[in-house]
Amino acid sequence: MRKLLVAGNWKMHGSRADTRELIDGLDAALGSDSAAEVLVCPPYVYLCDAADALRGTSVVLGAQNVAVEASGAYTGEIAGTMLRDVGCRYVIVGHSERRSIYGEEDGLVAAKFRSAQRDGLTPILCVGESLQERETGITEAVIARQLGAVLESSGIVAFKDAVVAYEPVWAIGTGHTASPEQAQAVHAFIRGILTHEDDTIGNSVRILYGGSVKSSNARDLFSMPDVDGGLVGGASLDAEGFAGICRAAG
Ligand code: PEP
Repeated sequence: MRKLLVAGNWKMHGSRADTRELIDGLDAALGSDSAAEVLVCPPYVYLCDAADALRGTSVVLGAQNVAVEASGAYTGEIAGTMLRDVGCRYVIVGHSERRSIYGEEDGLVAAKFRSAQRDGLTPILCVGESLQERETGITEAVIARQLGAVLESSGIVAFKDAVVAYEPVWAIGTGHTASPEQAQAVHAFIRGILTHEDDTIGNSVRILYGGSVKSSNARDLFSMPDVDGGLVGGASLDAEGFAGICRAAG
């Protein structure tokens, strides 16, 4: 039985004060009985404030990016050990914004996945096709390539402690959510690739859906058999709305 995970990707939003306010609001709105695991991923500079605010709550902390290197002369980079040090448990790798805006290709994403695990973090590996790729019928080929790069580099055993997030690029921040059936079809495809390598691991990996998830559509998406929660951008910046999505995962 896979425990659902709802992760908030705050991206480059908010201030120090907003960080505390959002976490306090989320904690109050969630109450004590969230059936799902709840995760927030604030900007790097607010991670310590967030860790402070999260103390005593059931919400866990993650980061939005990680360096490949363990330490050294890498100006502007943040190592996984540093993220662990401030209380992070998860890190997002391969988000489409990092792939498309910062040119992170499959090889670099695979290296980040590997270094996250080396440094004791659970990677949330994002995969997903663009609108053009969907319209030209190559969605599965794109997903297989993105997932394949990580499988080749880390092997299926690494997925014992990893999460996959299917995030169709055309659904991110656009308000155009994939239908539950569209999401399920790709999630089943992803799980099929993983179970082909190892049935037990493939069936235990959580596969999140991301792309314009809101409290109004979360329940339908999460009711699909291979959708194990969500990676939420915009709607995670509102405590009540995000708590509603978390409740939908219950
Ligand atoms: C995301 O950026 O991971 C995301 C899913 O964004 P949104 O929920 O705003 O579409």
